[in-house]
Amino acid sequence: MNGKIRYIYSLTISELENFIENTLHYPKYRTKQVFQWLYHEISSFDEMLNIPKKLRAQLAENFYFFKPEIKQTLKSADHTVKYLITLHDGASIETVKMEYHHGISACISTQVGCKMHCAFCASGKEGFFRNLTAGEMIQQILTIQEQTCQRVASVVLMGSGEPLDNFTEVVRFLNLVHEKDGLNLGYRHITLSTCGIIPKIYELADLEIPITLAISLHAPIDSIRNQIVPISKKYPINELIQACRDYIERTHRRITFEYSLISGINDSIKMAYKLSNLLSGMLCHVNLIPVNSASPLLDFPFKPPSLEKIEAFQQILTRNHIPNTIRRTLGDEIQAACGQLKCQFRKKS
Ligand code: SAH
Repeated sequence: MNGKIRYIYSLTISELENFIENTLHYPKYRTKQVFQWLYHEISSFDEMLNIPKKLRAQLAENFYFFKPEIKQTLKSADHTVKYLITLHDGASIETVKMEYHHGISACISTQVGCKMHCAFCASGKEGFFRNLTAGEMIQQILTIQEQTCQRVASVVLMGSGEPLDNFTEVVRFLNLVHEKDGLNLGYRHITLSTCGIIPKIYELADLEIPITLAISLHAPIDSIRNQIVPISKKYPINELIQACRDYIERTHRRITFEYSLISGINDSIKMAYKLSNLLSGMLCHVNLIPVNSASPLLDFPFKPPSLEKIEAFQQILTRNHIPNTIRRTLGDEIQAACGQLKCQFRKKS
C-alpha cells in the first residue's frame, strides 16, 4: 500500500465530490453512491456493484481501502465488549462496546498511545505513537456495528488518546459521523472527553457543534491535579473552569466533569466541598468514577475508595446542588479502562 495515498474513509463528502465530480467529471449522484457504499459491509472498491468499473479503478488508484482486523475480543458479564484492533500499519488500538438502556455505545480511541501521562491511565504508558485519522475513528464504529449487527446509538471519545491533541482529524470525524448518508449520528449523541487543553476548548466552542464536552477534572485544586493529570501544570484549574464557562455560554450545552475517585488522593470530604464550590452555579454534571484498578500495569498504586466513602463524597455534592452520578463501572474485569487491554496483550506476546 502506498503510504502517501489517503484513506477513503477519511474523506468528507465535499472532498469526495471534488474528486468524483470536479476532477473526474462523473455526475453528482456518483458521489452519494460511493459514500453510501462505504457504510455497507464491503471490503474493497470492487464490491461497489453499481459503480462503473473505471471509477472503481480510479478510486483504488487514488485512495486506499482497509478494514481493521480484530486481534482480540474480550467480553464481560455486563455485555461490555472490548476489541483490540490492528490498523493498516500494524498499530493496534482499543475500542469498547457498552450497552445502555438507550442502545449501544462505542468508546473509541483517537490516538495510538497518548502524550498526556495521567498517573492512573494505561494509554500513555508506552508513549505516543501517532494520531488516528478520521477514517480510522469511523472504522471503530463500523467494526462494532458489524460485530453486533446493531446500530451504534452514541459515541464517546474516551478511548486511548487525547482528542483535542488530534484536533483536525477529530473535527473531521465529528463532521463525518454526522453525515446523513453515513452513520447519521446526532451531535447530541457524541461526547468528547478531554484532560483540558484550554486553547482547543475555545476552538471547539467556535465551531458551535452541539456535542457534549466532558472534562477529566479528577481534583478541584492544582496541587492534587498536578500529580495525577500532569497537563494541569500548563493549564491550571481556574483557567480551565473559565474556558468551560465560556463553552457553556456559547453552546448552551451542559458540561460533564469526570472525577475518578482514588483512595487517599482526591476522595476526602474537604475535596468534595472544594469541588462543590468550584462548580457552584455551573450548568454541569459530575460523573464520579471509582478508579479502575484492574490494571495490567505493574506497581499500580491507586485503589478505589470504599462504597461508604464514595457515597459520603456524593452526598456533599448533592447537598450543594451539584448534579452528579456514581458511574456504573462497566467491563472492570476485562481491563476496559483506557489502554489496559493493549498493555495486557503486549505483556503476553
Ligand atoms: N484523554 C481524554 C480521553 C481519554 S480517557 C481525557 O483525559 O479525558 C477517558 C477517561 O477515563 C478520562 O477521564 C480518564 O482520566 C479516565 N481513566 C483512565 N484510566 C482510568 C482508570 N484506570 N480508572 C478510572 N478512570 C480512568
